[in-house]
Amino acid sequence: MADVVRVIESMYDPAWARDWDAVGLTCGDPQAPVRRVLLAVDPVDAVVEEALAWHADLLLTHHPLLLRPVHGVAAAGAKGRIVHRLIRGGCSLYTAHTNADVAARGVSDALARVLGLTDLEPLAPDALDDPEEAPRGMGRVGNLGAPTTLREFALLVAEALPATSQGVRVSGDPVAEIRRVAVCGGAGDSLFGAVRASGADAYVTADLRHHPASEAREEDAGGSPYLVDVAHWASEWPWLAGVGNRLQGELERLGTPVEIHVSNRSTDPWTFRVPSPGGVMR
Ligand SMILES: [Zn+2]
Repeated sequence: MADVVRVIESMYDPAWARDWDAVGLTCGDPQAPVRRVLLAVDPVDAVVEEALAWHADLLLTHHPLLLRPVHGVAAAGAKGRIVHRLIRGGCSLYTAHTNADVAARGVSDALARVLGLTDLEPLAPDALDDPEEAPRGMGRVGNLGAPTTLREFALLVAEALPATSQGVRVSGDPVAEIRRVAVCGGAGDSLFGAVRASGADAYVTADLRHHPASEAREEDAGGSPYLVDVAHWASEWPWLAGVGNRLQGELERLGTPVEIHVSNRSTDPWTFRVPSPGGVMR
């Protein structure tokens, strides 16, 4: 475990996590051997089931199981049951959350790359420590290889991300030209100011609620940046493949190879959607 944790923390330093976050080893023995690691976005029951069925020694997730303080982990509640199942099954749980969001090759970076964006920069850069070279921070902004329309871009997003019942929701003129794109994996409604300042034509993020979205659209008087809202899970899942590859490579180099598997199970809580009959009132 010590080697695995060292490699994970060399990629996603826990010191980069926001101060409200809870990252690192949630449960498990730091001395336990690790042969199999399952990677997933959410430490939910179905993922734990998959980890135990595969005899994983470590489940590495993006979202924390215990973000808010708890006074116990009795198996009377869903989170306590997960802690019990993991310990009984000999599987540790490790979380890399906001420290992975901001990393140079982190969650938003992976989202930007899967959409084909280049010349990436953080939307809201973090101040770097002395030895650091690669810029880090929340969100990314970059450029498409060739300009496209908002409608075509939304189709590209839908194609690039794993399927969800939500699909892709868009606010803006379908024929507007899109060249520069900002992204933030997960809920990104705190970054509207940085998105506007970045000169982005469109902003891809998740969990956009009525008021922040409506106010942003009013602010921009219906113009750019247009909003492209995807499922939270789908915006973060593309990060896992890169984590798996880097972890595997580094641990092989250290002479302590592990088997790694990325969970393909959708943990998006929304399971189906029905379109409204008839057209939208204008
Ligand atoms: Zn998230």
